[in-house]
Amino acid sequence: MGLYYKTNTIKTKKGMTTMLIHCSSCTNERAWHLIQSTNWFCLLVIPIFPTSSYKYIECPCCGKRIDINKRNKERIDRLFDKAIFGSVKVYYMHELL
Ligand SMILES: [Zn+2]
Repeated sequence: MGLYYKTNTIKTKKGMTTMLIHCSSCTNERAWHLIQSTNWFCLLVIPIFPTSSYKYIECPCCGKRIDINKRNKERIDRLFDKAIFGSVKVYYMHELL
């Protein structure tokens, strides 16, 4: 009998954008969820240590997502700016890619 190990992905909701985003997939204009996805090395079903991690924002209606990378991080960060909460500006997905 050998040890049973595998990697599992655990997704954690870290917040929501304060800006509205127009989803090109479902056409809704909503605040999107910020999700952190972490891959864990697991022994049996117990997470032992993380092997990789990344963040993305996700449409709450259809699940369409935009990965956060070096190229768009600054633009995505602005979506969480509390100083301009309540702004009527709607961001389109192509502005964020
Ligand atoms: Zn959508």
